[in-house]
Amino acid sequence: MASKDYLHFIDGCAVAASDGQTLPLIDPVSESLAGSLAAGTAEDVDRAVRAARRELDGGAWSRLSGAARGQLIQRLADLVERDAGLIAAMDAQAIGRPGIEPTLLDLPNALGTLRTSAGWADKIEGRTIPTDGYMGMATLSYTRREPVGVVAAIVPWNTPFMITCWKVGPLLAAGCTVVIKPAEETPASALHLALLCREAGIPDGVVNVVTGRGNVVGATLCEHPGVDKVTFTGSPAVGRQIQQLAGAHFKRVSLELGGKSPQIIFADADLERAVQGCAMGLFFNQGQVCAAGSRILVHREVAQQVAQALAAIADAIKVGDPSQQGVQMGAVAKRQQFDSINAHIRRGIEEGAQLLAGGPSEAGAGLFVRPTIFSGARNDMSIAREEIFGPVGTIIAFDTQEEAISLANDSRYGLGATVWTRDVARAHEIAHAVKAGAVGINCWAPIDPHLPWGGVKSSGIGRECGLAGVLAYTEEKVITVLMA
Ligand code: NAD
Repeated sequence: MASKDYLHFIDGCAVAASDGQTLPLIDPVSESLAGSLAAGTAEDVDRAVRAARRELDGGAWSRLSGAARGQLIQRLADLVERDAGLIAAMDAQAIGRPGIEPTLLDLPNALGTLRTSAGWADKIEGRTIPTDGYMGMATLSYTRREPVGVVAAIVPWNTPFMITCWKVGPLLAAGCTVVIKPAEETPASALHLALLCREAGIPDGVVNVVTGRGNVVGATLCEHPGVDKVTFTGSPAVGRQIQQLAGAHFKRVSLELGGKSPQIIFADADLERAVQGCAMGLFFNQGQVCAAGSRILVHREVAQQVAQALAAIADAIKVGDPSQQGVQMGAVAKRQQFDSINAHIRRGIEEGAQLLAGGPSEAGAGLFVRPTIFSGARNDMSIAREEIFGPVGTIIAFDTQEEAISLANDSRYGLGATVWTRDVARAHEIAHAVKAGAVGINCWAPIDPHLPWGGVKSSGIGRECGLAGVLAYTEEKVITVLMA
């Protein structure tokens, strides 16, 4: 892999950190040095926020109509479509996954988000609201949806371009400006997006990228007086810190956090389809997916059959260097992730769950984790409670529908859920009873740019994508005129 050195992108220019410092970029497949990124400072953040503020408060961007913003976002989408292969390769190489996955899923989704957002830009409407008037006199009251302001967008490494677009498309549609803070492992595609914004004709200063450490760049953004909203995707631990930091300044905060999403399989389901869906929900992106369907709740009648089928799929997956022919699963993103996944697997064995496939992986050349299936587990085991963020599935048997719902909801998370059954009434009953932001019936994680996405409980606050995702970047202002 050719070595690459990444700078910030502030106010239309590539710039080094104010003190010249950099951080190393590590290739997860070979664990060798792959380049560097600028280690952003508080001064860099301030420079980026000032550029974003200028464009918001009277700059060229603030004077554009919704229709004009929509045209610019469409042009950006055209450029993303042109460079889709390059962007997919950037994201795949950075975290060691096969390029086919971002090509087939992340990029089309990101593109869809940009195009949908472009369509909303000139449809952000207010309302006229009838009232009882003011001190006996008639009034007219109406609302306007105004941009929330300068947004700090803090992004994780697992599907970086797609998640960056979930934030940038809607916030541009709403008329906001942004400072993006990509994860330390994946600066490339966010920087490329910023370059494409410039090429599309979006004024300099509207989209800025400051790379570097979360506890420096991210934390400074959360406290900066020029930032109005923080939109964060990442771990619950960091989400909590962000809410505290940003909350102290009354900034708007939206959090897309982790999950331990249940896949509930009834005996009447199309089991072949259910097993394939579960395998995708477990092993896509090496299991490094917030919506991973990692808790598989199966009716006891078919639990063994499902467990064996999933174990057979896990055993057959070819793991290795994703640049090699036939490899289906690459490395996990970083050493810390590798160690944490293996620690979870060891704990599952210690707790007495039955290991049907995979198991702990030895640290050798490359951060490769074997697809792992546990069965005979209980919902109080750590492998059923903790988000592992790796290719590990935990199968738990249930006897009744009530028990299935109770097990599904016995989690601090509530991001996604899937129910597999041919019984339409039961499918909807479960979908209504499960506490989650999104439920798939006979399909795992149907994430779509037109649909709202987000979680309940410790899985987050707020929604991204769809109309809800655009309105999340607006403030509703009410204006009342005395008609007398
Ligand atoms: P992370 O929380 O460690 O990091 C996410 C981002 O936050 C990175 O850019 C990081 O630099 C930054 N950050 C770290 N410390 C910070 C601080 N003190 N202040 C401000 N910013 C800081 O998460 P991760 O390991 O990169 O990603 C994995 C997590 O993200 C998992 O829990 C996963 O479920 C979650 N995730 C959720 C969704 C969703 O849509 N709900 C999507 C993808 C990932």
